[in-house]
Amino acid sequence: MTEDEKREAVLRLEKRYTEEFGKKTTVDSTPAQEGVLFGYALNIQKCIGCRRCVYACVKENNQSRDNPEVQWIRVLKMEKGNFLAENMDKGYPDPAGIQVGGNAYQNSGVVLEGEHYYEPAEVPEKGHFYFPMQCMQCEKPPCVKVCPVRTTYRDPDGIVVIDYNWCIGCRMCIAACPYWARRFNWGEPNLPAEEMNPVTHYLGNRPRMKGVAEKCTFCLQRTRQGRYTACVEVCPVGARKFGNLLDPESEVRKILEKKRVFRLKAELNTYPKFFYFID
Ligand code: SF4
Ligand code: SF4
Repeated sequence: MTEDEKREAVLRLEKRYTEEFGKKTTVDSTPAQEGVLFGYALNIQKCIGCRRCVYACVKENNQSRDNPEVQWIRVLKMEKGNFLAENMDKGYPDPAGIQVGGNAYQNSGVVLEGEHYYEPAEVPEKGHFYFPMQCMQCEKPPCVKVCPVRTTYRDPDGIVVIDYNWCIGCRMCIAACPYWARRFNWGEPNLPAEEMNPVTHYLGNRPRMKGVAEKCTFCLQRTRQGRYTACVEVCPVGARKFGNLLDPESEVRKILEKKRVFRLKAELNTYPKFFYFID
């Protein structure tokens, strides 16, 4: 597409959304800026499992409210465990030596299964911790590799984007993602006009259609304008940090230098730019 054709396409979309939702809607197409590589760091010790991030994300990014319900962030409730070397041999009928597998009679450490539909009277719940997950914006994204029409790709600032207009709904990317980060619009998205966020980006939170994949884009409609993501702003305990990995003075770089940091499923060599840390 030429620059003129792109401008025309954006104007067409702005007109269509403005009419459809009855409010002045903008569709930004700001590209990645030079010298920026976005990164995220989440303090796993601080998260209290309130899921304000989930709902702030739904609102900011125009996700389908229900039927179908689409949420880009999942907060998993996990049991606290006692994963010590001396417990490794427990839970088996006989002292059978260290076993790696799921056939112990009792749990001997952290139960690595999360629950994201939890409804307690209050959080955090005793004996639990919380593990938020969303798109990791992989440096080597398996989702991009498998897309047969190349409509999902990694932008130079590290954000993996989807051009919804070209998505054919094959769901290869959903199958390929090791982080359960992508969602599919099985039905027509349900976005009430009064709740629609009219400040959108072409590759981000503009309204989607039935039959396309979607996922977190680090709120590029905000972050490419120098703002924080909605989840960073809403988190009441400051568990979420975001910034430019190429800037040695950024908060996220300081965290990587000074804290104990890990990446999820690091052994897959997807090189997530979403880091977890503890103080
Ligand atoms: S987390 Fe999944 S959807 Fe996100 S870039 Fe990596 S493979 Fe793609
Ligand atoms: S808003 Fe913060 S504390 Fe609440 S669930 Fe999300 S990351 Fe955890």
